[in-house]
Amino acid sequence: MVKISCSNYGFDCEFESNGNNSIMIEKYQKHSMDEHGIEYSIEALEQLLIRKNY
Ligand SMILES: [Zn+2]
Repeated sequence: MVKISCSNYGFDCEFESNGNNSIMIEKYQKHSMDEHGIEYSIEALEQLLIRKNY
């Protein structure tokens, strides 16, 4: 299972999203828009994940 969390990206925020890759990315994308006013593209988030995993 893959996990993405706000604290990994330097936010003082407890939000975590995990599960299936594409669902998780969409959830995180919505959260960052709603809570932080930052719009990540799916591609940008996928790249962050890939970098994190290696
Ligand atoms: Zn957050």
